Amino acid sequence: MSSGRVAPGGKQPTGIAFRRDHQGDKSLVPQVCDWCRTSEAEIGLLTTDVDSKRRVGVNLCMDLRCGERLESVANLSGRSILDDTQRLVERMARFASEALGLEAGSDA
Ligand SMILES: [Zn+2]
Repeated sequence: MSSGRVAPGGKQPTGIAFRRDHQGDKSLVPQVCDWCRTSEAEIGLLTTDVDSKRRVGVNLCMDLRCGERLESVANLSGRSILDDTQRLVERMARFASEALGLEAGSDA
């Protein structure tokens, strides 16, 4: 497996500026974070501008503390945090790549 490895301090999409998008109908929003797959925090649709014309949304923990949440979940289940963190980074990178067109890895 030669998955694109995103090293800390590398080209992680840390510069995405999210906005809360109040759409009113909460019943349509899945209450699971797209990135860490937990539902402990308040989940909401966060949007960010792709460019001046397009905007994308993703359901995430409102506090964006997905990493910490994954850590506690991993601790509870006795799994390695490394795997979960890797998956989280990959989801973030995929979102940045597919939704925003950012290059997060080498083998996009
Ligand atoms: Zn999350």
